[in-house]
Amino acid sequence: MYAMKEVVLTGLRANGELHLGSYLGAMLPMVALQKEHAGDRQINMFVPDLHSITTPIEYTELQSNILRNLKMFIAAGLDIADESTYLYRQSQISAHSELAWILDCFTYVGEASRMVEFKEKSERIGNDTVSVALFNYPVLMAADILLYGAVWVPVGEDQRQHIELTRDLAQRLNNKFGELLVVPHETSKQVEFAGRDQALRIRSLSNPEQKMSKSISDPRGTILLTDDPADAAKKVMSATTDSVGAIHYDFKTQPGISNLIQILAVLSDRPALEVAKEWEGKTSYGELKQAVADKLQAFLSEFQTKLANVDEAALNDKLASSEAAMRTVANETLLRVQTAVGLR
Ligand code: AMP
Repeated sequence: MYAMKEVVLTGLRANGELHLGSYLGAMLPMVALQKEHAGDRQINMFVPDLHSITTPIEYTELQSNILRNLKMFIAAGLDIADESTYLYRQSQISAHSELAWILDCFTYVGEASRMVEFKEKSERIGNDTVSVALFNYPVLMAADILLYGAVWVPVGEDQRQHIELTRDLAQRLNNKFGELLVVPHETSKQVEFAGRDQALRIRSLSNPEQKMSKSISDPRGTILLTDDPADAAKKVMSATTDSVGAIHYDFKTQPGISNLIQILAVLSDRPALEVAKEWEGKTSYGELKQAVADKLQAFLSEFQTKLANVDEAALNDKLASSEAAMRTVANETLLRVQTAVGLR
């Protein structure tokens, strides 16, 4: 009934352009996850496209964004030949929507209302235009996880409450109907599983008090993966630093400098503390900026070349075979639940 191997599930929304922060903080850890666990675990890597439309977006760009993000995963090192990795688009498997509806019928308005992520997001959007789907998305996320019996769901802090909701829903249905659904591991174990990369927060180059984001209001602070490499290097050279005059790796007193060290470290695949030691006490900020700019320029050139050379036919084959296989698994789970509640 359940998968033989433990299932690890991870997804990244394809809303807008990816930047250095989302690449280093989300995409690279997902690729690393495959390297670390492929073989002994099943990796479900999916594009949560139904989640993309919970807030207004440029709808005409969604299709091309989905394809571009998938290609970026491959350029970032995802091995699509690996048979224990399944790569799929959520909306191509209708069981996600169907199970979400049934789970909705067992979710209390009270518990859904306690989701902090919804409160924060809806406050940002302004209450008049917040969609019911945004309120409901943790339940869809529960369906995303439960359909495949995933036990490991490495997520950032903002999503941990949704893992707890998923566990509550699975246990609620199991208590009522017998062993129906696999309950994912509790969040403390998830945090351990996700490892150190989850803590990574790349800051804006122009405003290092804030995290780098895709916001268009801060183009000088954000490095897009599609930026011209030479332009990106210029952004680093004009990054905001401080007037301390000597380099210390300390985000409290020198967020700009520390951010540059962190970027240099991750792009060199080395621990930040090790890189920081080499720069500690030096007084030339320009030298550090130059080192980061050179590294970034080389990284972007190489990444963009790989992106241009992604084999689209192989990607489409992988999507087709993964989606067929996952549709079968998802439909089995859905049928069990439909049967339990009397719909079949
Ligand atoms: P977003 O693009 O904001 O929807 O974020 C998508 C994913 O990228 C989330 O898992 C974030 O934690 C991660 N992410 C976004 N911005 C950054 C950043 N500046 N540093 C590290 N990770 C980030």
